[in-house]
Amino acid sequence: MPLMNATASYSSDDVRVTINKHGARQYTRMSYPLHSGIFTEVETKNHILHFNLNNEIIRAKGKGKDWPHPHEWLKRNMGNDWIYYSTGGYTGVFEATGEYYLPNLPYKTNGMLGGNPFSNEPVDNLIQSWPETLSAILNNTPDLPIHVSDFLTNALTHTSQDLSQKADRLFSICGGRSTVLPPDARHVDYNVIPITISTGCLYKCRFCEVKNKLPFAAKSNKEITSQISSLKNIYDKDLLNYNAVFLGEHDALQTGPQIIVDTLSLAYEQFHFNQSFVSGCKAFLFGSVTSLMNTPDTFFKDLQQLPFEVYINIGLESADQATLDLLGKPITTQMVTDAFMRIQDINDRFSKTEITANFVIDDDLPATHLPAFLELVRESLPRVKPKGCVYLSPLKFGQPSRSKTFGFNRLKVLSRVPTFLYIIQRL
Ligand code: SF4
Repeated sequence: MPLMNATASYSSDDVRVTINKHGARQYTRMSYPLHSGIFTEVETKNHILHFNLNNEIIRAKGKGKDWPHPHEWLKRNMGNDWIYYSTGGYTGVFEATGEYYLPNLPYKTNGMLGGNPFSNEPVDNLIQSWPETLSAILNNTPDLPIHVSDFLTNALTHTSQDLSQKADRLFSICGGRSTVLPPDARHVDYNVIPITISTGCLYKCRFCEVKNKLPFAAKSNKEITSQISSLKNIYDKDLLNYNAVFLGEHDALQTGPQIIVDTLSLAYEQFHFNQSFVSGCKAFLFGSVTSLMNTPDTFFKDLQQLPFEVYINIGLESADQATLDLLGKPITTQMVTDAFMRIQDINDRFSKTEITANFVIDDDLPATHLPAFLELVRESLPRVKPKGCVYLSPLKFGQPSRSKTFGFNRLKVLSRVPTFLYIIQRL
């Protein structure tokens, strides 16, 4: 590890600062908070704050009795969203999402679980007050070592306004905000570098809340190369903590094998993923029934040669024609069935690719929707499969309902592929 990331600690009666603390070297699911990467930790009597290698705040938690739970924390992502990770009382969160902690998002999404932690005063206060905590340490601690005062001074330049402007710069590099990340990005806690290799999608389904009006269009090699170069500047020193990319936008698979393979190779080289502190290297993208069926086997063979595990998420939505028609998704049940079989075939044969699928759930869908779903994920498969997750996506936004998880649990038990809830999360 380069000397610039050597760990250095300082502590007094009131504060402890650990510069370049080494966290976990891989993303690991634990029932207690385990943070990966290298970060600086500032701990006071009341708070713990984490900063990335650019000295920008990335996590915060309270230590007092008024903090909702000692294992829960706030995370700030590169889109400058604060996300509250709750245990959800631990009951059912892991079974439903595949994760021990439930991300509570500061915007309306389709999650069935979760409360409103942002209305909790200590949580909201911490989002606003962390700069005051740093200023108080800087101004009131005599004899601070120079490396600590330098860190605090620099961290204070990254104000909320500065971080918000940086997020805007990120969005403009990528041609807009990533309004939805693939559910598989949970494998790296959604810490992905977004690269837009194409815009729009093929279907413009009526039900979809995340689509835009753009017709599908691939980006040129020149545009992608320029994006990667700008992204390298914006992630800067913190690139060392990244090992994953999201290839946007809504149907990156349709962009074609050559651009995908070239982009992954260039990103690996330019982002120095071979030197990442966090092991493993992953790529996430969306595909459609059409792009999946048009993608030749040679593409998946080529992916085997890259240093990435690649996750491709396909929106199937339903295997029932009445439901597809109601959703305004212009595909047929035969296309969905064929795509599902192709997904199984690819997952069986290519160890470095996992293709996952989304289906919708909602009480108001035709009665034929769930039987058709079970026909696919249970009856059509001779045995339980470890790979090829299916994500169930509630249609309604902003309506968490724990009672509905009962129906989900029944489907999960019957399904022969790993089955989870899809919580739509943006970057
Ligand atoms: S569900 Fe997918 S294909 Fe359909 S409109 Fe939304 S982004 Fe486009």
